Amino acid sequence: APELSTTMSALVAPVAAEAVDEPRRTPDELKAIAAEGNRLLEGAPAEEIARWAAETFGDRFCVTSSMADAVLAHLVSRVKPGVDVVFLDTGLHFPETLKVRDIVAATLPVTVRSIRPRLTVGQQDGEYGPRLFNRAPDECCFLRKVEPLNRALAGYDAWAAGLRRDESPTRANTPIVGFDPKKGKVKVNPIATWTQADVDAYIARWNVPVNELFRKGYTSIGCWPCTRRTKAGEDPRAGRWAMFEKTECGLHL
Ligand code: SF4
Repeated sequence: APELSTTMSALVAPVAAEAVDEPRRTPDELKAIAAEGNRLLEGAPAEEIARWAAETFGDRFCVTSSMADAVLAHLVSRVKPGVDVVFLDTGLHFPETLKVRDIVAATLPVTVRSIRPRLTVGQQDGEYGPRLFNRAPDECCFLRKVEPLNRALAGYDAWAAGLRRDESPTRANTPIVGFDPKKGKVKVNPIATWTQADVDAYIARWNVPVNELFRKGYTSIGCWPCTRRTKAGEDPRAGRWAMFEKTECGLHL
């Protein structure tokens, strides 16, 4: 396993995310806002989508980032300096990913919230047996990603994610603004219509931090046990859970 230490991790205080607040808007109100936002914003520039979300939801809006790159965090920080950026620290990330998180925390005007699962990897091994990701990846993803995200989002009405329609067939219908009925919250996808070329152009223009693994043959980056390099011509997400009929961790279903 890769060494999971980083030199800058002291910059990112782990947050024990707990429900701190009740939504001020009801789920029905949020659902209506999402529908209206989606109607208004299809075809709008990403910055305008981010601005709409920041103005509509204020401090009850955050960004989630896998730290594959810092494009979304950077983009939203331009319209909402200080915005919370939620990172799910599964305990099974590549050191290169933790490095991006630490650079984002140190250099962008954002507040990184590094959210950990309730169980350490060792505790999970003790309760569920070792290498749960090899036997039941959905269960592992639930314990290490889905439940922590639900906990992390407790204080927000809306969050931004970096999903793009061209990433895979499962993401082809990603809305600009959607309503997640399970969470009762609004999900905003400012770069849903971007291509990889758009992402690359943004990174070059703004000198945005990018995960070093992209230079080493990876095209989509998650936890190290469930991510492999891809070959030329493969779907960019083909390297995720390659040994299973699984293409999504459950965060975006
Ligand atoms: Fe577990 Fe793999 Fe999901 Fe990470 S991506 S939480 S290691 S199953």
